[in-house]
Amino acid sequence: MAKPADTRTAGRKPAAKSTRSAAETEKIRAALAARHDELRAEYDQTLSEITELQRDRLTDSAGDDQADTGTKTFEREQEISLANSILERITQVERALERLDEGGYGWCERCGNPIPVERLAAFPSATLCVTCKQLAERR
Ligand SMILES: [Zn+2]
Repeated sequence: MAKPADTRTAGRKPAAKSTRSAAETEKIRAALAARHDELRAEYDQTLSEITELQRDRLTDSAGDDQADTGTKTFEREQEISLANSILERITQVERALERLDEGGYGWCERCGNPIPVERLAAFPSATLCVTCKQLAERR
């Protein structure tokens, strides 16, 4: 005989989510949009630094010894990996905005509770509430 209701699976994927107010959703959207602008500016800045480093390499590489060339290559690689990580964060924020529109953003994956707006503003890619995050880190 199958049991009519299985209460032991509760907490895995909550069927009924609590709702977030429209004002709160707007707050999250504003926070994400602000973060997006910030990251874009940072990305543009990094790109122009890469261009500059590249130009330096081309213009005054005549008198360079191998060490100079090595340093410049290293600097450029640093800048590029920085640019890539910023780009990755931009993508995360864009994905977060999409999911926010679909209503799937900002809920703790573990307990299903809404993640506080402040936390989402600071960590747009957060998928766990602070409590669950701490539990996960303690493992
Ligand atoms: Zn949680």
